[in-house]
Amino acid sequence: MANQTKSIVQQSLDALLEDHSFLPSLKENTRRQAFTSLEAILSTPNHVHKSFLRIPLEDGKVVRIPAYRVQHNNALGPYKGGIRFHESVNEEEVMNLASLMTLKNALHDVPFGGGKGGVVINPRQFSVKELHQICKKYVQYFSDVLGPDKDIPAPDVGSGEREMDWMMAEYKSIRPGEPYRGSFTGKSVINGGSLGRREATGKGVYFTFRYMLHDFIKEQSSLLTTTENIFAKTALEFKERPLKLAVQGFGNVGSVAALEAYQCVHLQNKIVAVSDRNVTLYNEDGLDIPALVQFSSKHNGDLPTTDEELSTIDVKAEIRDRENVLYLDVDVLILAALEDQIHKNNMDKIKARIIVEGANAPVTSEADQSLSKKGVIIIPDILANAGGVIVSYFEWLQGRETQFYSEDQVFKLLVDKMKGTMDTILPEFFGDPFPLRQNCYIHSVMKLSTVLYHQGKLY
Ligand code: NAD
Repeated sequence: MANQTKSIVQQSLDALLEDHSFLPSLKENTRRQAFTSLEAILSTPNHVHKSFLRIPLEDGKVVRIPAYRVQHNNALGPYKGGIRFHESVNEEEVMNLASLMTLKNALHDVPFGGGKGGVVINPRQFSVKELHQICKKYVQYFSDVLGPDKDIPAPDVGSGEREMDWMMAEYKSIRPGEPYRGSFTGKSVINGGSLGRREATGKGVYFTFRYMLHDFIKEQSSLLTTTENIFAKTALEFKERPLKLAVQGFGNVGSVAALEAYQCVHLQNKIVAVSDRNVTLYNEDGLDIPALVQFSSKHNGDLPTTDEELSTIDVKAEIRDRENVLYLDVDVLILAALEDQIHKNNMDKIKARIIVEGANAPVTSEADQSLSKKGVIIIPDILANAGGVIVSYFEWLQGRETQFYSEDQVFKLLVDKMKGTMDTILPEFFGDPFPLRQNCYIHSVMKLSTVLYHQGKLY
């Protein structure tokens, strides 16, 4: 578990240990012992599986590619989490992402545990045939520990529907006659995927922001005048004027979040910048997001990088370097690329008033503390980017029932679930001094602790 996650989990445990109305039957030494067990259970994964996938390349060479599956905790249900295809994947990172999944599922009441996978490759450097081999080998090497009731992978950075379809097909051939539809989520709709899964995370990211800044505040308008809470004050100020937004990352999460913001009728948004692995595109008057989405869908997910490309789609924008998106004078910065994007070396250059974590862990612990102290509101990953795993859960259910929901049903269920979480968290957040991330963690830890206690695991 990364230091940031570890220290917030520890602070949550400390607060609960002192709160004797929580698990009141645990007293004195037994209580201390139970919390020591909890700390040990939550800070370490149950299993770390590592293999070297042997892949024959099309040029005749043979490579061995490191691959991981980390199973952090399954107290709430089968392990669940994406498989990342990226050259910087490492064991530490996969372990941390797996523990975040445990906490995220607990927060949103999704009946899954936490897991994560990774393959150390840059997928752009492999042919389709080689990627197919990599996916098949991943399932062959880890098939004993995967399955619809054991551990259910999904896409992450660098992987998508195609990879999940291949993996499910391989799982099905390895285990003939066994249930297979729920073995992977994020599949294509034709292969048992859920309508709305692709858009789910980005939609959820934007919905979380909109709900906090608009819907919830509107319903609880008395909070605006009675609380000192910085979010309520910011929301009040933002109510009066159009908002400037910037979005880092224009993939599955970022492009959908940007489009949702662009199309939102509740807030007057202007998306002045978007970025990807190559560039930042900036326009003070607002970017034409639908045109950029269309361009990137035809260009391997990339944004235009030259004036010529911009003019072919009639989009007006300045082309800036890819880091520039982080330092713009905007109201809201949505981070939807990779982790550790805001850190101690660049945190002082951040001007945004609200940061929404679409990516996992995009703000380091030091930056989180420093920005929060300055009054920057950070809507944490664990709250904002759960749309993917929530709709993965719906996909898993649909696969079990072989009854499929319409896209509207999926989005309604998604929004209801995320709203349910926020309606639990937000009244406390507005009423107490903890930052939002800490508040979310306390809820997750409470849920996990209660379940583990009733399972007799806290000895
Ligand atoms: P993706 O691969 O579809 O998109 C990633 C985007 O980030 C691309 O636009 C890429 O060009 C850009 N990018 C890569 N390196 C960059 C850099 N150094 N600077 C700026 N931009 C860069 O991935 P995704 O599925 O959109 O995931 C993005 C993040 O959201 C990841 O942290 C992922 O773990 C997290 N997340 C994804 C989901 C999901 O359902 N896809 C769910 C929860 C969390």
